[in-house]
Amino acid sequence: MITETMSELGFDYSETQRMVAESAREFAEQHIRPFVMQWDESQEFPVEVFKKAGEMGFMGILVPESLGGSGLGYHEYIAIIEEISKVDPSIGLSVAAHNSLCTNHILSFGNSDQKERWIPKLASAEWIGAWGLTEHNTGSDAGGMNTTAVKDGDHWVLNGAKNFITHGISGDIAVVIARTGEKGDSHGMTAFVIEKGTKGFSSGKKEDKLGMRASETAELVFDNCRIPDDNRLGEVGDGFIQSMKILDGGRISIGALSLGISKGAYEAALKYSKERVQFGKPISSFQGISFKLADMATEIEASELLLHKAAFLKNQGRKMTKWSAMSKMYASEVCVKVANEALQIHGGYGYTKDFPVEKFYRDSKLCTIGEGTTEIQKVVIAKNILK
Ligand SMILES: Cc1cc2nc3c(=O)[nH]c(=O)nc-3n(C[C@H](O)[C@H](O)[C@H](O)COP(=O)(O)OP(=O)(O)OC[C@H]3O[C@@H](n4cnc5c(N)ncnc54)[C@H](O)[C@@H]3O)c2cc1C
Repeated sequence: MITETMSELGFDYSETQRMVAESAREFAEQHIRPFVMQWDESQEFPVEVFKKAGEMGFMGILVPESLGGSGLGYHEYIAIIEEISKVDPSIGLSVAAHNSLCTNHILSFGNSDQKERWIPKLASAEWIGAWGLTEHNTGSDAGGMNTTAVKDGDHWVLNGAKNFITHGISGDIAVVIARTGEKGDSHGMTAFVIEKGTKGFSSGKKEDKLGMRASETAELVFDNCRIPDDNRLGEVGDGFIQSMKILDGGRISIGALSLGISKGAYEAALKYSKERVQFGKPISSFQGISFKLADMATEIEASELLLHKAAFLKNQGRKMTKWSAMSKMYASEVCVKVANEALQIHGGYGYTKDFPVEKFYRDSKLCTIGEGTTEIQKVVIAKNILK
């Protein structure tokens, strides 16, 4: 199986991937780099940057051109998220949540009217998208959710709250999964689209976070929120199953985010190790430092290979739940480790805000938590290899 994968993957980037990566790199340098620390300190969600990302096609990466998107595949998607995250992971996280979660849920499970109605607005970033699965008491155990949707004629009435939702305040539209059946039944939940301004739908508390501070995280609150049945995505009872499929793709984007953090931190550490002189020599000449760099470089390569394998299978429409979980788990654990070592290589300077590794260190930790913790990825992998 490994041999087949390797020969199909090839070991080089395609021309399209290179071009896409180059334009994402330029975009990040011009529109993100100058403001990274300002947004981090003020915890500002810079909506205008996402509008500009929309003009570049980065907010509808996987959306077909017929619906206003870029019509690209998962290899290119990785390249874009990676390049943006090398500069600011919190912008990478928001671009990923908009593309993989909200937009992709409507694209994957909406009917043609729903796609025509919402996808072009999302792909252009006229609207920013949110996706609500997690609740205060149900994170890893998302299937135990308490938010309910009750049918009332040709409408649904939603009550409850979603927690930790990316773009929970600034989002113009949210895909929300709510209970429509019994607890414990994986077919007891349904997905709905809710537009901002709908009566009974509001935002709650905004989280004050360790990292990813320019990516807004907040509550969504439903208080007798009435939405038409036209806003239901797919069949009643399919919402949770749909969500698990959405997370298969979403985890590739968190892996790409992790890869961007790893590369950004590694490149900063490599440069610093050649410049910083102690005991009359650059610190890179000490084996204790060069071995750290060797481990970091190797693990980054391994993360990238695993991610592109998951992307390859996803592009082919093949089952890739195990691979997306493996690639997300591995790339995220590597990024935490690489960010930690990069800071160590910077010594005391790495602990200050004058060098980028301080922020990579704080941002990296989200990657082992969001879209399923490392422990939950192990549950998914184990379930797949033991069945
Ligand atoms: C910045 C940020 C952005 C987010 N964005 C979104 C979003 O846009 N939409 C959304 O729906 N959610 C979002 N989330 C929620 C995120 O997906 C959850 O935080 C995550 O799934 C973990 O859930 P929890 O925080 O409730 O932790 P818990 O589920 O309470 O887990 C606590 C600990 O217990 C462990 N654990 C739980 N169950 C098991 C088990 N069976 N075996 C072993 N260990 C276990 C976990 O691994 C973890 O270490 C976001 C979270 C953050 C922090």
